[in-house]
Amino acid sequence: MENFILESKDLVKIYRNNGMEVHALRGINLSVKTGEMVAVMGPSGCGKSTLLHMLGGLDNPTSGKVCVNGKEINSWNEGKRAVLRRKSIGFVFQAFNLIGNLSVQDNVELPALVAGFSAGQARSERDKLLKILGIQDKANRVPTQLSGGEKQRVALARALINKPLVLLADEPTGNLDSKSALDVLKLLRQTHDQGQTILVVTHDPNVASIAQRVVFMKDGQITQETKLEDQSDLKGLVTHLIDMEV
Ligand code: ADP
Repeated sequence: MENFILESKDLVKIYRNNGMEVHALRGINLSVKTGEMVAVMGPSGCGKSTLLHMLGGLDNPTSGKVCVNGKEINSWNEGKRAVLRRKSIGFVFQAFNLIGNLSVQDNVELPALVAGFSAGQARSERDKLLKILGIQDKANRVPTQLSGGEKQRVALARALINKPLVLLADEPTGNLDSKSALDVLKLLRQTHDQGQTILVVTHDPNVASIAQRVVFMKDGQITQETKLEDQSDLKGLVTHLIDMEV
């Protein structure tokens, strides 16, 4: 399993609530290479978010394996998985999940401080990212003073500050108007172009179109995989669209 940054093997997740079983994942085999961008698409309820949670060590599968950077994380206790999440995995969610009473700059630098960076290093990384993501002029605002697109930029900066092995994004454009969605799309593409490994769950065909591979799920299973390098027309078209509109 050592050639992949992220790998799942026969991953099964069964939720059990009040005696009811929900088979959310029914044997997922998925590998993501270093530097690759993979999009996961599929109808609501097919298990996309569950898969992302398992891959990111946010929850344990019922059976099967998850390997991050060649290490099988299932047997790890919550403390060890929390360290992995803090240091090696960046998360971006549809609902932004920013800390409401912290400023933009504090939201972004917090994960670096928690991961053990010095205050100076955290500040310097934070300032670089705020600049790259175009939100340096919003550094002292709190999340309620930001638009949806700005909140997602802050969430992206926070996810990237520890230079994660992999960025896991769950519907990153799901709550955004079309202009803000294109802004975030452009930033994801830029981040990927700089070598960031990304796995993104999305309904948005524009987001999927900048991935190298799209994995389609249905009823907890992968039903199809499409390599987008073969569809240069589609990729070119959307890339052009992004460049035109952002
Ligand atoms: P998607 O992200 O594709 O919309 P999810 O992974 O959120 O799908 O959900 C997959 C299935 O698992 C759905 O039937 C959902 O209702 C169920 N599910 C998700 N989380 C839980 C949970 N914590 N408890 C019980 N069922 C859940």
